[in-house]
Amino acid sequence: MFVIDTSDRELMRAQFRSFSKHIPLLYIILVINTAAIVITSFRLEHYEKTLIVPAIISSFALARAVWWSRQKNADHLSDEQISAYLRRTCVLAAVQSLTFTLWAIWVYQGLDAFGRSNVTFFLALSQVSTVFCLMTLRVAANLVALVSTVSFALYFSWIDDAQLLPQAIVLCCVCLGMTVIIQGYNHSFTELVSSRRSLHQRQIETEKLSHENRRIAFTDALTGLPNRRELLERLDLLEHKQDVADDSLAVVFIDLDGFKEINDEHGHQSGDQLISSVAQRLRQQCPKGARIARVGGDELAVLIEVDDPGKSANAQAITLASVLLKEASLPITIDRHVLQVGASIGVAANNSDAIAPRELLRRADMAMYHAKTSGKGQVALYSEGLDEGRLHRLEIEAQIVNGLAREEFEIEYQPIVGATSRHITGVEALLRWPQRPEGPLPPDQFIEIAESTGQIHPIGLYVLTKACCDLKGIEGVTLSVNVSPAQFRHPNFEQQVLKILEQTGFPPERLQLEITESYLLSNPERAFQAVAALKAQGIALALDDFGTGFTSIHYLQSYGFNHIKIDKSLTSDLAQQHKARRLVEGAIIMASALDIDVTAEGVENAQQADILEHVGCQCLQGYYFGRPMALTKLHHVIRQQDRSLRPAGKRAAG
Ligand code: C2E
Ligand code: CA
Ligand code: CA
Repeated sequence: MFVIDTSDRELMRAQFRSFSKHIPLLYIILVINTAAIVITSFRLEHYEKTLIVPAIISSFALARAVWWSRQKNADHLSDEQISAYLRRTCVLAAVQSLTFTLWAIWVYQGLDAFGRSNVTFFLALSQVSTVFCLMTLRVAANLVALVSTVSFALYFSWIDDAQLLPQAIVLCCVCLGMTVIIQGYNHSFTELVSSRRSLHQRQIETEKLSHENRRIAFTDALTGLPNRRELLERLDLLEHKQDVADDSLAVVFIDLDGFKEINDEHGHQSGDQLISSVAQRLRQQCPKGARIARVGGDELAVLIEVDDPGKSANAQAITLASVLLKEASLPITIDRHVLQVGASIGVAANNSDAIAPRELLRRADMAMYHAKTSGKGQVALYSEGLDEGRLHRLEIEAQIVNGLAREEFEIEYQPIVGATSRHITGVEALLRWPQRPEGPLPPDQFIEIAESTGQIHPIGLYVLTKACCDLKGIEGVTLSVNVSPAQFRHPNFEQQVLKILEQTGFPPERLQLEITESYLLSNPERAFQAVAALKAQGIALALDDFGTGFTSIHYLQSYGFNHIKIDKSLTSDLAQQHKARRLVEGAIIMASALDIDVTAEGVENAQQADILEHVGCQCLQGYYFGRPMALTKLHHVIRQQDRSLRPAGKRAAG
């Protein structure tokens, strides 16, 4: 009851704050009561009693009131200072209360009954109000109650032969009651402070949690970079910003080339590691003020914000794009494999009229798409024309989905003849889309789109299945089917091919798959494995479009191709250009040394056919021998050929 608890600093400060507000009021009440007693006792003409002592008490009270009214803010006070003030307040409260009570008793003695009752009233009043004002500082309130009650009660029980004893007892009871109230009030006050404290604590924890949630929601878990959501939020924020200057914002959109292949061949774990490493490397290349975010599987975007009006965001973005392009294509070692990807990068800036920041992201994405579809490994800048190209591709993409569902695709077969015999020894299956509602579309214009969307897988399986069924009955004729690099990369490709052969009953020795060299160069390990597995089943492999790439003898040899197909661009130049002729001759010599047969594509006239036959080409293919044709026509052509081949006697007999 009489000890100040300074262990709970927060409680101590709360006490200080609370009663520092009430103390000036307390002193003012004290001064008023003093004045009231002075007025009551002034006619005694005892100046020490009625003027000097009350003047001292009042001056001290006023001085304290002024001091306390300046202590409203306890924030600048240390805990030690506060605890010292609290102690001092307790001592002063006791001393002052005692002084006031003794003075009142002194005055009381010289007064008549009316004066005495006035003094008692004012004394009790000031005692009660003092106790209530000090209620938050329990010790001070208790001391005041005790000191003033005890001294007055003692005095009452001593004077006038203890006639005033009942009053003294009542006074003590009131004091006891007040003490109980003080205890209760203090208890509630302590609880209030501690519940406020725990509320505050909980608030801090909630804030921390929501901060953490936000961090997780806006961070990409794999790379630790900001994610798409965070980038979009930043772009939206910029959208609401006033006066975004022209050419102050730019987005660089990066999509990794060849990532899908690595994922397919080395597994997702390696893919993840690769993304993570590339992302870190690219981040290190980003200058200050550029934020990089992972916006998709293998897509990253950098937002460049330029504050300096003299600098161009577009120029910065272009410079950064070429740095990132180089950085992305450096080899990376993952699980002892040296892996390499590339990047297709798009750049867009708000260099002309007000462009919404989110639109910048779309534009940069569009430009990236353009970079990707026009050869990969390059940087493309956004221009309005790109939107149309993208739209066209999106339309075709949707049409392919419908086309597959409605069986709009068909296959035509182009004869391949022996160079010397000029008889059909094989056919190449070529995909057609005659029933497309918008009009037929040549394969050159949709195969590549189907490759980029993955639609080439169902298309490829359709072609192979249909062609095997169609050609099964035409014995002695080999079937060549084109296979896209994307199909070849599929981890189950070999199994899928074998399954189709089994289902259709087509003999593997009569099947030849044609593949372009681009895939072999970019994925030597996986290609090697696939070629070996297919060859083991008796399926022949042909290298398509030979002469347009860089295939080396080493490649031809190590993959064990059965065939190379000389590209039609070389064939068409044969008659006019010596160079083309020498190239074809060289290829044939090289191929025959490796025991590889050569087919020339695009033979359109007798002159080309003769030259090719002369230089040692084994097979010929081209409009001169037959355009790609429907199956029924192929049946007809082969029947005619068979008839012309039959010996004269047999023909007559037949
Ligand atoms: P490719 O494999 O080089 O096919 C040969 C292309 O040359 C065919 O074009 C054929 O019609 C054309 N051609 C044949 N002889 C001559 C000739 O004497 N002169 C000229 N100028 N051209 C000739 P097509 O059918 O338009 O096919 C284009 C490309 O589309 C093919 O090139 C092939 O890469 C791809 N393709 C066609 N069908 C399929 C398929 O089922 N799957 C895959 N993955 N690709 C296919
Ligand atoms: Ca081909
Ligand atoms: Ca070809």
